[in-house]
Amino acid sequence: MKSNHTNLRIPGPTPVTPEILKEMSRFMINHRGDEFRQLIESVTERLKTIYETKQDLHILTASGTGAMETAIVNTLSPGDNVLAITIGAFGDRFANIAEIYGADVTILRSALGESTDPDKVTSVLNNNPNIKAVLVTHNETSTGVTNDIESIAKIVKQDFGKLLLVDGVSSVGSVPLKTDDWQCDAVASASQKGWMAPPGLAFLSFSLESWKANASSTMPNFYFDLRQYKKYMEIGQPPWTPNLSLFFALDKALDLMLREGISNIHLRHAETAQKFRDGVQELGLKLLAKPESASDTITSVLLPDGIQAKDFLTIAKTDHNVELAGGQQSLASKIFRIGHLGLVSDEEITETLSAIKYSLEKLK
Ligand code: PMP
Repeated sequence: MKSNHTNLRIPGPTPVTPEILKEMSRFMINHRGDEFRQLIESVTERLKTIYETKQDLHILTASGTGAMETAIVNTLSPGDNVLAITIGAFGDRFANIAEIYGADVTILRSALGESTDPDKVTSVLNNNPNIKAVLVTHNETSTGVTNDIESIAKIVKQDFGKLLLVDGVSSVGSVPLKTDDWQCDAVASASQKGWMAPPGLAFLSFSLESWKANASSTMPNFYFDLRQYKKYMEIGQPPWTPNLSLFFALDKALDLMLREGISNIHLRHAETAQKFRDGVQELGLKLLAKPESASDTITSVLLPDGIQAKDFLTIAKTDHNVELAGGQQSLASKIFRIGHLGLVSDEEITETLSAIKYSLEKLK
């Protein structure tokens, strides 16, 4: 049953192929030289293609949380009224960041395992005319639920004209998110998710509307001051020393992604997710998410009564070399999660489902 390396079925870091990893062993280059200018310009352009945006996009040496913080501290001011739509741990994190920087945050929360009802967004915005910006998670990794961002964006942008900041960390590059068509003002993502690169780079698209908000934003920032990124990008440089090795890896990963094609990638993720959902249900297990909002990048499965999450995860790992993720916070003892963003082979799907089957049997 054991393969040479772990079948890494957590929702990031995701598996990285040897050809992408090999890029990380390249010699260092001058990040203020021509070679890096060409690299950052080409990587940025290709990220924009996958983001479906023609507006600005900046690459940060940070994890996804850094990009979420960047979106907030470059558009808002202390005391601003903000609506945070949360359906789990990462929605809570987005709200938290805004609160820590002094925003006045109204929370719209859904039960864990559910997506946001767009009508509720309309009603909160109707009742709170002072709200300036809306924070929302596209794909909530802690529950495996995807929000209907297209409908939410229509309300936020077309009906109310508010700023829309999106956590797309576990969605962009894996499932459809049309940054410009849906008028998302800032979308955060991170290299260790569907991008097939190691952790350490974060991406943030930033619309003209966001730049308008930036002109009057007074939240403090330094490392994440996007004006610096914009100014330096004019000469093909980042303001601070970037993680060069990760740029080399991402360069390769983007080549592979664009060779496959964005719509093929989306289709592959939808098909893989369906195989996992069908497979666990055939084992008699129940899913946390409803079919209409189940994520195509992460599947949350309810643990049968009497099975301890820790024991189950340990057996899957030690006996079958399959690394699954547990639940977070109040879901810790209730679910386990299967990550299926980025690269997943049919063999890994079969191996994962069989690890789940045999680990549960062993514990019964
Ligand atoms: N948002 C979502 C939806 C995520 O899945 C994650 C990472 N699991 C984050 C934010 C935070 O990203 P990072 O750990 O890269 O800071």
